[in-house]
Amino acid sequence: MSDSFRDEVRAWLAAHCPPSMRVAPPEISHLYGGGRRAKVWHPDQPAWCAAMASRGWTVPEWPVEYGGAGLSREHAAILREEMRRIGAQQPLFSFGISMLSPVLFKFGNDDQRRRFLPDIARGAIRWCQGYSEPNSGSDLASLMTRAEDKGDHYLVNGQKIWTSYGDEADWMFCLVRTNTSVPKHEGISFVLFDMNTPGVTVRPIKLISGASPFCEVFFENVRVEKTNRVGEEGQGWAIATYLLSHEREMISSLGKIRHDTDPGRRALEIFGTDGEGRLRNASLRQTLARYQLDAAAFRLWIEHGERHPSASAGMGAMSSAVKYYGTELNKRRNELYLDIEGADALLWDARGPAGEAWARNWLRSKGNSIEGGTSEIQLNIIAKRVLGLP
Ligand SMILES: Cc1cc2nc3c(=O)[nH]c(=O)nc-3n(C[C@H](O)[C@H](O)[C@H](O)COP(=O)(O)OP(=O)(O)OC[C@H]3O[C@@H](n4cnc5c(N)ncnc54)[C@H](O)[C@@H]3O)c2cc1C
Repeated sequence: MSDSFRDEVRAWLAAHCPPSMRVAPPEISHLYGGGRRAKVWHPDQPAWCAAMASRGWTVPEWPVEYGGAGLSREHAAILREEMRRIGAQQPLFSFGISMLSPVLFKFGNDDQRRRFLPDIARGAIRWCQGYSEPNSGSDLASLMTRAEDKGDHYLVNGQKIWTSYGDEADWMFCLVRTNTSVPKHEGISFVLFDMNTPGVTVRPIKLISGASPFCEVFFENVRVEKTNRVGEEGQGWAIATYLLSHEREMISSLGKIRHDTDPGRRALEIFGTDGEGRLRNASLRQTLARYQLDAAAFRLWIEHGERHPSASAGMGAMSSAVKYYGTELNKRRNELYLDIEGADALLWDARGPAGEAWARNWLRSKGNSIEGGTSEIQLNIIAKRVLGLP
């Protein structure tokens, strides 16, 4: 059964995944995000996404009625393995899939699931995350964006910051304060709204990597229907942390080696081998070997988790461990490229053999240990909730 499924997947990918979609994009932000204003970095991206969506393979384990393929854990893992084998580009990079959908499945109502999930599965609407505020990052529960009760709707006023893809997204999932007279964790609600709603203003922030993937977002009397609140009023903190555990799992995948940018291969091409078949550069050999071992162990850890029957429930606090380790690995890999390529890799427009933008990716990787909660916060969570330290 599994073998015949693998054969079917392999044949389908051979027929439908064009060669241009069998390489990783030069920068992670060049993955296809879909949406009403879809930014196309390669002309084949929309068709590749549509082909995968037509099989339900952008979200292989979701039920068919919501745009998935209803695959078992095991079959979904086979699909991922076969995609990895040919280096298939992720067809849709979507906060809707990785972050919002687990929340809709667990806390949403039937109407919300029917309304949003099929569009998320085929990349018709793109989502951004309205969590952080100028004075509420690690201490997220102190957020001040206010949602005032107006009967059948809320009026939202306040500001978010560091909103990734805020200028490209169609909708936002957003934490708002609905009650100021209870302890801070209890007065938060989780709402959804269209970024075209009057009163929403987006201003991109330019990063050191040259890109502007995130924004400031301002709200002035933004009307949000109560039917767009997920869960109960005041339940927002439980929803927020559940979503964060899925976000951290998603970010941790940065730690996996992409086949076309394996630093080991690149080092061999540049330095060659000595008489004993070892990489000629001894100090690099040490660093590389340590990295390769850690990366392989990490990949096995993640793959084991993906196949585990309880995986669909999410990893809970363990997501902090994979997030911490995956992002540290990604930073080490980007450092390694610079060690291997030398000073030339620091040139702004320097590109690797697969088109990867070394300097920009290296600069971007610094943010990995901040986004989705900083490394210090992950270590605190691991200490308290995984290890049970006082
Ligand atoms: C690339 C990128 C993308 C992002 N995208 C989004 C997004 O789409 N939506 C969104 O809402 N936010 C987003 N963020 C924001 C991110 O979630 C916050 O930057 C992060 O939570 C840290 O908050 P802060 O920047 O306010 O730093 P602070 O919370 O002010 O932290 C400053 C420093 O103090 C340390 N610190 C704080 N509290 C503690 C503690 N209790 N113990 C130990 N150390 C502590 C932190 O580790 C950090 O080093 C993004 C950030 C980055 C870098």
